[in-house]
Amino acid sequence: KSGFISIIGRPNVGKSTFINRMVGQKIAIMSDKPQTTRNKVQGIVTTDTSQMIFIDTPGVHKPKHRLGDFMLKVTRSTLSEVDVIMFMVNADEKIGTGDRFIMEWLVKSETPVFLVINKIDLVHPDQLFEIITSYTNEMKFAEVVPISALNGNNIERLVETLESYL
Ligand code: GDP
Ligand code: MG
Repeated sequence: KSGFISIIGRPNVGKSTFINRMVGQKIAIMSDKPQTTRNKVQGIVTTDTSQMIFIDTPGVHKPKHRLGDFMLKVTRSTLSEVDVIMFMVNADEKIGTGDRFIMEWLVKSETPVFLVINKIDLVHPDQLFEIITSYTNEMKFAEVVPISALNGNNIERLVETLESYL
């Protein structure tokens, strides 16, 4: 099994930390040419059973007026071409404007969208439930997976679940 996974989320939710952990080294493949490649490959992960190619969707957290028409098209087509979209959010923050901006796109997506709640090491389970609900009340997700990219908590389950969508 192999496939493409796009990671979307506003700055500082832990996207790079997650990819670095998956790849197991600081940099796998990276393009330094901004906007010349439509999809920025961030890391390729090969397990016993699958190959997963993680890509970034540049600028997706930025309000529309700050994105050109070209970038909007790129973003849209990226979302439709991957196998899974990982929407990453902070476990210690309720839904905010930046998240809602991204969800405007995601809600229209025909690609399965995972809600990945990162940094669960920072919150009490009761608080986590409240945070998750603040997202799931607004949109239906294919899967909801809480993780800690920093300490590795529940990453294996996320990978298994991703594999089942490839
Ligand atoms: P990005 O902007 O989405 O790529 O976020 P980064 O990967 O750069 O992470 C932003 C900050 O969050 C860094 O200081 C990370 O160390 C921290 N961080 C990432 N994942 C976790 C996590 O699971 N738990 C905690 N406590 N901090 C995290
Ligand atoms: Mg980053």
